[in-house]
Amino acid sequence: LKKKTYATFTESMLKSLAGIIGQENISTRESDLDNYAIDEAGAAVPHRPDAVVRPISTEMVSKVLGFASKKNIPVTPRGGGTGVSGGAIPVRGGILLSLEKMDRIIKIDPDNFTAVVEPGVIVEHLNEELARLNLYYPVHISARTATIGGNASTNAGGMNAVKYGVTRQQILGIEAVLADGAVINSGGEYVKCSTGYNLTQLILGSEGTLAVITKVTVKLLPLPQATEILFVPFSSLEGAIETVPLLLRMKNIPMGLEFFERDTIEVAEKFARYEVPGHGQEAFLMIIMEGDSSEDIIQYFGQIEQICRENGAVDFFAPGDALVKRKFIEFRENIGESMKQFGKPDSVDTVVPRSKIAEYVRKIKEVAVEFGVKVYLTGHAGDGNIHFSPVVPGKKANDIKEIKAKFLERIYRECVALGGNISGEHGLGSEKKKYISIGVNVETLGLMSAIKDAFDPGHILNPGKIFDD
Ligand SMILES: Cc1cc2nc3c(=O)[nH]c(=O)nc-3n(C[C@H](O)[C@H](O)[C@H](O)COP(=O)(O)OP(=O)(O)OC[C@H]3O[C@@H](n4cnc5c(N)ncnc54)[C@H](O)[C@@H]3O)c2cc1C
Repeated sequence: LKKKTYATFTESMLKSLAGIIGQENISTRESDLDNYAIDEAGAAVPHRPDAVVRPISTEMVSKVLGFASKKNIPVTPRGGGTGVSGGAIPVRGGILLSLEKMDRIIKIDPDNFTAVVEPGVIVEHLNEELARLNLYYPVHISARTATIGGNASTNAGGMNAVKYGVTRQQILGIEAVLADGAVINSGGEYVKCSTGYNLTQLILGSEGTLAVITKVTVKLLPLPQATEILFVPFSSLEGAIETVPLLLRMKNIPMGLEFFERDTIEVAEKFARYEVPGHGQEAFLMIIMEGDSSEDIIQYFGQIEQICRENGAVDFFAPGDALVKRKFIEFRENIGESMKQFGKPDSVDTVVPRSKIAEYVRKIKEVAVEFGVKVYLTGHAGDGNIHFSPVVPGKKANDIKEIKAKFLERIYRECVALGGNISGEHGLGSEKKKYISIGVNVETLGLMSAIKDAFDPGHILNPGKIFDD
C-alpha cells in the first residue's frame, strides 16, 4: 500500500471528538499516551497516539470513525494490548480506539450453544461465566488479558487448536463498523449460512485494518468434565517431533500438543524456579487430553505411551493431580516471559504442514548455525506452529539487528518452501509486514490491497499494519 499522509491532530479536533462522544471517554493524559504506545511486541518501537478514545457503544464507535474519516485521522483499534506483532501500536499517531469499556456479555444461549459478546470481553472472564452454565469457549491462549475482539482480529490460535481449531472456527457472526461509520452485520446465532459473501471470515484476522469489530457471536461447547496432561521427555528432538503426526491419528486426538526443546526448558525452569520431570532430556511433549471423565481419557494412555516410547520417549508422566497439571500449563504460558532475559523478543510464529515439522525444525537449526544465531524452540506442535525468538550472542546492537533481519527472512523463505507461511496465529502487525510478499504472491497481494481500498478508501484504519508501505 502507498504510504498516506494524514491530518495533523489539533485541539479543535479534540474538542469536536469530546462533543461527539463525551470528554469522559477521551484521554490525552501523558501516562495514557505512553501506555497505549506499545503492545507486547518486544522489539517494536513505541509510538504515542494523539488521543486515547474509549467508546462504550457501537454508536460511539460509528461516530468516532465517521469523524476520523471526514477529518483524515488514523485510527488504531486495541483490545487487551497483548498482541506480539505490534498490531495495536498507533504507528501513525491519531486516535487510539480502545475497546476495553465495551466488555459486556450480552447473551449466553445454552440451547443454541452460542454467546453474543462485546469485543472488550476478556476471554478468560467469558469462560468463568460459561463454566457456571457448564459451557465452554475452547480457544485458550496464554495471554490472560487478551480480549475476544483482539483474538478475533488476529485469528488467535493457542493451545487447544489441535482439537477445536483456531478463533475463526469458533465465530459464527460479527457486528462491525466500517471506516466511514457504517455498521454492518455478518452471520449470527445460526450454524450455517450461504447468503452472500462471508464477510465474517474476511474481517476475522484482518488486524483492525478493515473494520472495528463491535460484537461477536461465538460457538460454545459443553464444559469438558475432565482434562489430563501428559509430560513426555524424549532423548531426541527429532523423536519428539516425529511423534506428533502419530498422535494425531488416534481416535480421541489430543486437545493440545505442545513441544519444547531442552534449552527452552532450561531457561523456563530458571524463570519458574521449577524443574520439569525428565529434566536434562533433549525434547519434551506436553499432551493435553479431555473427555467425559478421567477414566475416559486414561484408557488412551497405554496407546499414547507406546507411540511415544517407540519414538524415543525415555519416560512418561501423567500427574493426575490438579495442582501439578496447573503447574504444567503455567510453565508453558510463561515461556514467552522467560525469553525476555535475552532482550526484547521477536515473536516468530511460522506454520508448516504438520507432517513437515521435523524437517522444518531441522532446517531452522541448520540456518541458525549458519547465521551464528541461537534459537530456543517451542510451539504448538499439533498445529505445525513453531515459536522462537532468535538470540545473537556476542555481537554489537547494530550487527544484531542486521543478522536477525537476514536470518528471519531466510527462515520465512524456508517455511514457505515447505508449504507453510510466516504467521500461524500472531498476525503481521507492524513487525512482520515487511515479509508479507514471502508468504503471499503478488496477485494475491493485489487483491488484498483492493479489498482494503473497498473497505477503507481513506486508509484510516490501522495504517502501517499487514502491508509494507
Ligand atoms: C504471554 C503471551 C502469550 C500469548 N499466547 C498466544 C497464543 O498462545 N496464541 C495466540 O494466538 N496468541 C498469543 N499471544 C498473542 C496475543 O495474546 C494475541 O494476538 C491476542 O489475540 C491479542 O488480543 P488483544 O485483545 O490483546 O489484542 P490487541 O493486542 O489489543 O490487538 C491485536 C490486533 O487486533 C486489533 N484489534 C483489537 N481489537 C479489535 C477490534 N475490536 N476490532 C478490530 N480490530 C481489533 C488491533 O488493532 C491489533 O491489530 C500471546 C501474547 C502474550 C503476551
